[in-house]
Amino acid sequence: MAKRIYFFGGGQADGDGTQKPLLGGKGAGLHEMTRLGIPVPPGFTITTEVCTAFFASGERIPEGLLDEARAAIRRVEEIVGTRFGDPENPLLVSVRSGARASMPGMMDTILNLGLNEAIVAGLGARTQNPRFALDAYRRFIVTYADVVLGIHRKRFDDALEIARRKAAAARGMVEAQRLTVAELQRKLPDSMFDEETLRSLVKEQRRIVQEETGTPFPDDPWAQLEGAIVAVFRSWNNNRAKTYRKMHDIPEAWGTACNVQAMVFGNLGEDSGTGVAFTRDPSTGEKRFFGEWLPNAQGEDVVAGVRTPNPIAKGQGNDEGSLEVRMPEAYAELVRTQERLEKHFRDMQDLEFTVQSGRLYLLQTRNGKRTGRAGVRIAVEMAKEGLIDQREAVMRVDPASIEQLLHPTIDPKAPKTLLARGLPASPGAASGQVVFHADEAERKAAQGLPVILVRAETSPEDIHGMKAANGILTARGGMTSHAAVVARGMGKCCVAGCSAVAVSYETATMTVTIYDELGRPTDTVSVKGGDVITLDGATGSVYLGAIPTAPASLSSEYEELMRWADTARRLKVLANADTGADARTARSYGAEGIGLCRTEHMFFDDKRIAAVREMILARDVDARKAALAKLLPYQREDFTAIFQEMAGLPVTIRLLDPPLHEFLPQERKQIEDLAATMKVRPAELVRKVEELHELNPMLGHRGCRLGVTFPEINEMQARAIFEAACDVAEKGAPPKLEIMIPLAMTRKELALAKATIERVASEVFAEKGRSVSYLFGTMIELPRAALRASELAEEAEFFSFGTNDLTQTTMGISRDDAGKFLGAYVEAAILPKDPFTSLDTEGVGELVAIACERGRKTRPNLELGVCGEHGGDPSSIRFFERVKLDYVSCSPLRVPIARLAAAQAALTEGGATTLQTTA
Ligand code: PEP
Ligand code: MG
Repeated sequence: MAKRIYFFGGGQADGDGTQKPLLGGKGAGLHEMTRLGIPVPPGFTITTEVCTAFFASGERIPEGLLDEARAAIRRVEEIVGTRFGDPENPLLVSVRSGARASMPGMMDTILNLGLNEAIVAGLGARTQNPRFALDAYRRFIVTYADVVLGIHRKRFDDALEIARRKAAAARGMVEAQRLTVAELQRKLPDSMFDEETLRSLVKEQRRIVQEETGTPFPDDPWAQLEGAIVAVFRSWNNNRAKTYRKMHDIPEAWGTACNVQAMVFGNLGEDSGTGVAFTRDPSTGEKRFFGEWLPNAQGEDVVAGVRTPNPIAKGQGNDEGSLEVRMPEAYAELVRTQERLEKHFRDMQDLEFTVQSGRLYLLQTRNGKRTGRAGVRIAVEMAKEGLIDQREAVMRVDPASIEQLLHPTIDPKAPKTLLARGLPASPGAASGQVVFHADEAERKAAQGLPVILVRAETSPEDIHGMKAANGILTARGGMTSHAAVVARGMGKCCVAGCSAVAVSYETATMTVTIYDELGRPTDTVSVKGGDVITLDGATGSVYLGAIPTAPASLSSEYEELMRWADTARRLKVLANADTGADARTARSYGAEGIGLCRTEHMFFDDKRIAAVREMILARDVDARKAALAKLLPYQREDFTAIFQEMAGLPVTIRLLDPPLHEFLPQERKQIEDLAATMKVRPAELVRKVEELHELNPMLGHRGCRLGVTFPEINEMQARAIFEAACDVAEKGAPPKLEIMIPLAMTRKELALAKATIERVASEVFAEKGRSVSYLFGTMIELPRAALRASELAEEAEFFSFGTNDLTQTTMGISRDDAGKFLGAYVEAAILPKDPFTSLDTEGVGELVAIACERGRKTRPNLELGVCGEHGGDPSSIRFFERVKLDYVSCSPLRVPIARLAAAQAALTEGGATTLQTTA
């Protein structure tokens, strides 16, 4: 039987840092730290395999596991010198979840386990601090009741408030009854509760449990332990965890490990405390030890963000409260430890620590979450420091996170009204309507309204609202609060801990206190739900109204990383761009040409649409040619602009693709206007529009089928292309021209189009007295085209996979309607992902592979690329590397992502350049 429990403690550990799949990230970190001799309270990890077995057997703890846990607890007792369940000298434990990938705050944790009334009394006597023992117990009861017994927290919150009001009255705080819950909480925080208050609170909590469950709160520590283990495993499947997994592509099958560990207490008094730290700044990536802590507190206090924490080091505000000043010895040891851990794990670490009566303990180390900008900077600087090599630096950065570097920032020159300043928790800038609830955020965002979610603090229940919002503002909490960590992961702009803001959910208002330069309150502004505000996540500023944003500027570390990536990359990265301006943007992001220019986008322009409609509705060929002649100069102008931007680089122009009816007027007024211009009766136009109507337009008269019935369209487009290319060639370097036919399925369709294009080319070249070279090719968008690739390659000099249509036609799923049911497919794991976002490599991918192989057989130097949306999707790019396409083409803003993803694909899929290891 596989080993189910891994012990760590006393300088020895059964596991190590490499065993994340089995021990979870938290577990693996604890085992490795123990091996390194770092002070870690002893404990044990129940493996993720046990969690999987637990679910496989209908949520039953495997036979014999609890006996093994008992034996492991005995070993902990020996090391710590206390005994589990012994009122004289009790051992308390924490029971924590910890999956292979970190899922911050998504699953459950129980602290202070192993208490009952007798043990509380014993612990109070032994620590000479009965208040502390009672405080630990009341926290334990609430968490246990919530997590294990499933009793709503609200009941305990209410009990807490009643206790607070009673305590206030007893202290003679006459105004207490008039204060709001939040105001009173500030005046009389939990930490000021006396023994008597805590004792009656505990009594009330136990009464609630009895009332809700019909049985007393469990007093047997072993029963508590069993309940907690079950709850931790179950929490793998709670809704928050499921949502998080979906967002981060974490497989359902992994399961969580369960860590049981001796408690150390940060709330034993003023020489105790607890905190969270990062070995480098998770927001900017700067190499500076950075973190927050709270004196006399337990870990949950820091993360919950109810108290605003102090900095760890000096020079980060509130020096007096810093750990460096308050506990210099523990601080010095923490600094040494963080340096060691970063060197050892060769990555930025996110640490949790507790100081108990002056002694430092590490409770967690893991690779820290970071912003996209920080990720790039850390990878590049670590390579330069020699901690990792360049290859690893390229592999370290998640291509999707690069997107954050491309985020807009607030236009510095725009006029603005500063409301307040909070912590710059996650970069980016966002404007939107203020909403106070996650559900409301989701509802409004679904209507296309940009919203800013404003909360006193966020909790995992708010995650769907955070996802829907453009930005997040919280009144409380620090840089490591839930809001900050989650927003950073989502790449969303977030301002946290904005203490000038007071949120009232009852009245849907946030009241902002305005301060003068000397920090004196001068005024208050009240912002209602629905009012617009703007957040600047880079500075922590909150502004009234909407403010224009300026485009992102890329860091020098980014440029360096991309250079390394480009050295490793085999696939070329082109862009999908339809205008000169798009082409310029694409170039600035490093596109090496244009892989798809959709010419129909040029048709929608206000000035041109009339000519387009005339062309479509023309009674005969001559009338159509006359209308096309009006379009020709426009098309030529567009092509000229693009060719100038892309001198010397490939530019792939696709001939007209969509069904013609897409260009026609639908509304009565538009039809009447057009009829007047064309000098026909409106009824005639209506009839024509009806004639063009198709039941399945995506499978209808579109793509190269248009050229078969109306060859004049191809003629006009080819003429515009060649005239523009000759004109550009006259002044400088022409682009590497490629002309592409959409939606082909037979060789003959290609031969027909090719004949037209060749004829027009020779006409234009003769007129211009010069020629430009070009390739003729086709998109592969139909299964038949993929299967008959060997014939198509007789005509085509290149293939470009139109994987949007190829997905649609292979899977028989309409691109335009899939949204209605694809979500359910992904939810039920029928499909792993939306196949229009991430290529279905098994099905659609097989057709791509077949077409590559058969096409190359006919024409060994056949050029192969992809221009569907998948060209900018990292996991699809890995597949395109495997089938050895020549290029991917994607929207301009995804070009950097594709460059990095292509480099990573080359480095992992083999056969690629290896990078130098010197920086
Ligand atoms: C495609 O089908 O993948 C493609 C790029 O063409 P469009 O999206 O214009 O249909
Ligand atoms: Mg297409």
